[in-house]
Amino acid sequence: MKEHLERLIALQEADLRLEDIAERKRRIPEMVEAARQPLLTAQATRDSLKQEFDKLAKDRKSCEQDLAEQEQALSKLQDRTTKGEIKTNREYQAHLVEIELAKKKKGEIEEKLLILMDQMDTKRKELAQAETAVKDAEKRFTSEKDSLEGSVGALDEEMAALKQKRETMVGAIEPSLLRTYEKLRRTKKGQAMAGVNKDGTCIACRLHVEPQVVAEVKRGISILTCSNCQRILYWTGEPVQIVPQPERKTEAVGVEEAAETTE
Ligand SMILES: [Zn+2]
Repeated sequence: MKEHLERLIALQEADLRLEDIAERKRRIPEMVEAARQPLLTAQATRDSLKQEFDKLAKDRKSCEQDLAEQEQALSKLQDRTTKGEIKTNREYQAHLVEIELAKKKKGEIEEKLLILMDQMDTKRKELAQAETAVKDAEKRFTSEKDSLEGSVGALDEEMAALKQKRETMVGAIEPSLLRTYEKLRRTKKGQAMAGVNKDGTCIACRLHVEPQVVAEVKRGISILTCSNCQRILYWTGEPVQIVPQPERKTEAVGVEEAAETTE
């Protein structure tokens, strides 16, 4: 019976690994998407900086136009003085005020232009940094994507080999036992077997297994199931017969004796 149990344990290991491989393969597209996120963020930052930069460039252009217009207006005004269009002193005073106003306006436009140019310089630097960040993120994403997608081949190979191995394993297991195993596997989320911990609890459902069952599971001479979760039990503690420790032996005997008295 011991070898039956060992075969079942090996089968479960293979089945769990097969499920793990399938799960890994299934998750690859979403992992690729997750790896893409930093790139998308970097691109969004770059794009919004580019928009801000373009807006500043547009503002600067219109500001330069304003300045040109203002300069033209000012020189037209100044021309009036030399052309002798101004006849009276009163007209002349008004003209001077007009020129002052035009100069003031020109100064304001120039100041605005300087600020815009300054802002563009700052934005240009930020944009360059953002471009670098995008390139770095692109590199990282490409390499992560390649490695994720490249792992599919290895997973497929492992899966094919494992499936072949499973065929052989299944052939060596007693049919009725195999049916029990398969039924449990379907109903117990792939986990048909459950180890019994040193403290006598079932690994799967975490409940205590009856002491007499624990004792029998330890000996491994019969197929036993957890009375709570119905999984096939096996011993996970130290193999008592291999590590001879007098204390533990006495303990084990004690459990068996206790089991016998409760029966
Ligand atoms: Zn259980």
